[in-house]
Amino acid sequence: MPWQRKDLLGLEELTAEEIELVLRTAEVFADVFERPLKKFPTLRGRTVVNLFYEPSTRTRTSFELAGKWLSADVINISSSSSSAAKGESLADTARTLEALGADAVVIRHSAAGAPHLLARTVKIPVLNAGDGAHEHPSQGLLDLFTIRQHKGKIAGLTVTIVGDLLHSRVARSDIWGLTKLGARVRVTGPATLVPPTFASLGVEVYRDLRPAVEGADVVIVLRLQRERQAGGLIPSLEEYAALFGLDAEKMSWLKPDALVMHPGPANLGVEITEEAALDPRSAIRDQVRNGVAVRMALLYLLVGGGEKDVPAVA
Ligand code: ASP
Repeated sequence: MPWQRKDLLGLEELTAEEIELVLRTAEVFADVFERPLKKFPTLRGRTVVNLFYEPSTRTRTSFELAGKWLSADVINISSSSSSAAKGESLADTARTLEALGADAVVIRHSAAGAPHLLARTVKIPVLNAGDGAHEHPSQGLLDLFTIRQHKGKIAGLTVTIVGDLLHSRVARSDIWGLTKLGARVRVTGPATLVPPTFASLGVEVYRDLRPAVEGADVVIVLRLQRERQAGGLIPSLEEYAALFGLDAEKMSWLKPDALVMHPGPANLGVEITEEAALDPRSAIRDQVRNGVAVRMALLYLLVGGGEKDVPAVA
């Protein structure tokens, strides 16, 4: 099945087959870090614009590396350096970039739905790099890729997501992807950050950390999104860390072969201690590296070469 969609807006709308196609394509690029020559010629002559209206280190850098390693020209625009600061509308910015010959736009925005608006405005592919608390599909895909790399499968696994689910676009994309591929998903955190309504997404809501992580194959720890909290949703960071922060003691509740993941950036000492983040069971470094392979696969499928099923290894 070739890739058919113009845009990547969220995992909610993708079928399991489409998710599989991205993961299979990413396999081809997975060893890119080991290669002496990292460049594939695939997107030579194409231009990819990274339009970031919110701060980002790993997502922006890895989309940039992905574009460059596919030989595209990559342009980075951040909100402070764009005409958005002069009041230009998002749709107008997108039309300008399209008129200047951009072949794809990667957008991060604090408003849920901003990439969808863009996708309706321009004919070129739009890739959602995180919209508000809605979705972060490339992160969801790299999480699926990392889990499968370590566990050999997704179907039948039990995956626990811990923490600030309310504000987490990563959690929403992970939940869509994991459930579509047949994993059982548990979620846990303070009731203010994990409302019971999450059950409607097909996950099991736990109030306490211990039963939620016991027996889990994968534990995904989320960043406590202090910048998105109107305040007052947790009594204190110390209490949050004591009840839900993954530390050496709580790591002992996990299976010996459980995988620990975090989308980054981590508040070390709040949702996870440095010791837990560096534990041999932690796959956080693999997540960062796999992010490049998955984003190369996405650019390959959406911007060039999507007519072939999986690219030939150069
Ligand atoms: N980097 C991820 C995001 O942009 C996770 C986070 O910020 O907590 O959503």
